[in-house]
Amino acid sequence: MSDRVAVITGGSRGIGRATALLAAKRGWRVLIGYASNAEAAQEVVSTITSAGGAAMATRCDVASEADILGLFKAADGFGELGALVNNAGVVDVSARVEDMSAARIARIMTVNVTGSMLCAREAVKRMSTRHGGKGGVIVNLSSVAAKLGSPNTYVDYAASKAAIDTFTLGLGYEVAAEGIRVTAVRPGLIDTDIHASGGEPDRAFRLAKNVPMQRVGTADEIANAIVWLMSDDASYVTSSILDVSGGR
Ligand code: NAP
Repeated sequence: MSDRVAVITGGSRGIGRATALLAAKRGWRVLIGYASNAEAAQEVVSTITSAGGAAMATRCDVASEADILGLFKAADGFGELGALVNNAGVVDVSARVEDMSAARIARIMTVNVTGSMLCAREAVKRMSTRHGGKGGVIVNLSSVAAKLGSPNTYVDYAASKAAIDTFTLGLGYEVAAEGIRVTAVRPGLIDTDIHASGGEPDRAFRLAKNVPMQRVGTADEIANAIVWLMSDDASYVTSSILDVSGGR
């Protein structure tokens, strides 16, 4: 499936960045979306293009349907869509549910769930054989939080990722006969900036002792799983959710 376009939301940092770099190495033309950090996005594009790959970046806040339509319009101009990685996702600071505002819960659900579903909608319109497409792959970013529930920290985030799990199953069944595989990866504790955005930069390292493998994971270890799911090596894998979490 090389030479086709892979759209990666939130591709400027963390797991999305690692996925963009590896996908480009495997021959994908990479279009990354980013929320606000244009400099980080440009660094990813430069790293790929200076190594001979094809990449571009478009600002796309997945909370905005207009931005999502813009991202896929950019993809149309870049080549034929073959993959979507629904990577953009956010957490908020630790809180109990009784202290969560409606605005907080709405933001988590809008970015993590609605954003992923709208991106998938645009990808299906382009990749489904039902619409004249050549098929493709959607990889959603879930989290082990979907299984653990994340009490006293971010039950809202955990619930949003559980929604991603069910969305992966349902959409996968819906388009399985139309050439599209839909899968998800459930990362465990991964060393990225997301923990700082939740108010505790060292959170992953503090909790590493609870992981059977006794360590945090790296963005590259998640990217390896995502890019495998995007590849033809995973050609019989759909509606599957892969834990990449050191055993947790
Ligand atoms: P991260 O380091 O915080 O990076 C977030 C990326 O998403 C950045 O590229 C950011 O863009 C982008 N982004 C943030 N809000 C966005 C929005 N509203 N619209 C579009 N893009 C947005 O995150 P990460 O740790 O790599 O996480 C990636 C995914 O893995 C998320 O879905 C997360 O829930 C999931 N995950 C992570 C972990 C973990 O331990 N790290 C564990 C389980 C699941 P800017 O650079 O422009 O800000």
